[in-house]
Amino acid sequence: MSQPSETRTGACHCGKIKYELEGRAATPIYNTVCHCLNCQYITGSALLAASIVPKEGFSITQGEGALKTYIDTKTDSGQPLTRKFCGECGSKLFAFTPLDENIVSIAAGTLDNFDDWKPSKEQYCIHRLGFVDKMKGVENKNRHVTSVRSEAEQVWNRVLETGQRCISF
Ligand SMILES: [Zn+2]
Ligand SMILES: [Zn+2]
Repeated sequence: MSQPSETRTGACHCGKIKYELEGRAATPIYNTVCHCLNCQYITGSALLAASIVPKEGFSITQGEGALKTYIDTKTDSGQPLTRKFCGECGSKLFAFTPLDENIVSIAAGTLDNFDDWKPSKEQYCIHRLGFVDKMKGVENKNRHVTSVRSEAEQVWNRVLETGQRCISF
């Protein structure tokens, strides 16, 4: 069976940094809305929308030198989360965790096609602000989402079996 070939692209607000998601990375393992306090600070907003994708197929195609790193040590797990943002315009772009080196979290608002994006999970609901309703038809976790690796395999197997990408961006 041939593997579905699809490429997604994204960029920071000033356009200096561009990235590509191809092959496996073009299908998110899941899309999440995170209400945690760290994401509230990092985004300066009520929540973060992120696509969790396999690192295989993820590449920075332009402006890697402009990427800045912030090591977020105030995590639940105690493991440092590496957050990457554009040093020019400040757009939050990616996050990497040592808990699973095979995945990358993409700030979904930086995807070139964000219009159809919808979450499949909602996490850290204990910090969901009062004006944000509980999201319907998605998994609502009080804290974080676990067992990403086995889920990644399940998602990819579904893509191979059906030829359809399960979670739209
Ligand atoms: Zn930028
Ligand atoms: Zn968060």
